[in-house]
Amino acid sequence: MFGNFKILIHQGKQYIPDVTKAEVPGIFRGRPQISNEKTDTTALAEICPTEAISLNPVSIDLGKCTFCGECAIAFPDKIKFTKDYKLSTNDRERLIVKEGDDKLITLNREIVRKEISEYFSGSLKLRQVSAGGDNSCELELNACGNVNFDMGRFGIEFVASPRHADGIVITGPITENMAAPLQNCYDAIPEPKIIILAGTDAISGGIFIDSPALNRSFLDNYKIDLYVPGNPVHPLTFINGVLELIKRRK
Ligand code: SF4
Repeated sequence: MFGNFKILIHQGKQYIPDVTKAEVPGIFRGRPQISNEKTDTTALAEICPTEAISLNPVSIDLGKCTFCGECAIAFPDKIKFTKDYKLSTNDRERLIVKEGDDKLITLNREIVRKEISEYFSGSLKLRQVSAGGDNSCELELNACGNVNFDMGRFGIEFVASPRHADGIVITGPITENMAAPLQNCYDAIPEPKIIILAGTDAISGGIFIDSPALNRSFLDNYKIDLYVPGNPVHPLTFINGVLELIKRRK
């Protein structure tokens, strides 16, 4: 008994007490900041492998960014990545970070469907579909339920059957082979249901966008409830985004 207490004290807290204020290591690349510094913007845009950088004004689309860091390495006075992991939003436009603009990325509460907070604020079961994913986002989503991030304490869990789910989380760029299974899975979820896109590949196709092996037509037919940027997504980005989405409105 005494030995068990000693082990408990030695290990300390295994879980993150407050996932909204957790610190991440310095190597993490979160929300970028783009300064007003004059630079060769054409060269800056050309460096980006996914055309995430636009000009006039210089901006980065976090739905396309792979967070490779090449732009910040080549133009350190122009672009810096902060450790801010709160990148999720339901408004695609809010994923675009502009130069000189240090706004936090938040949800647009005006467009959150009323039934989401009404039905899911205390309990949300999600079915994950890897639609051509490379297993990186899938691993991070798995980590959301571990003892460290412990997403289950908020009533948010992944389930095996879409029949038991309240929504779908899509990872990967959505390949032709996965287009029909994805649709089948979505159809099997009872109404009302939500759609979350997790990771750059799911949001924009990422580096695979021009591949003829993709079929992203599923996304043309439904409203997306949450975009979770990252390549792969960080568990804290996912958990904070979902918590904001299902937060009960006053
Ligand atoms: S970090 Fe993002 S914006 Fe910068 S070069 Fe890489 S993909 Fe492009």
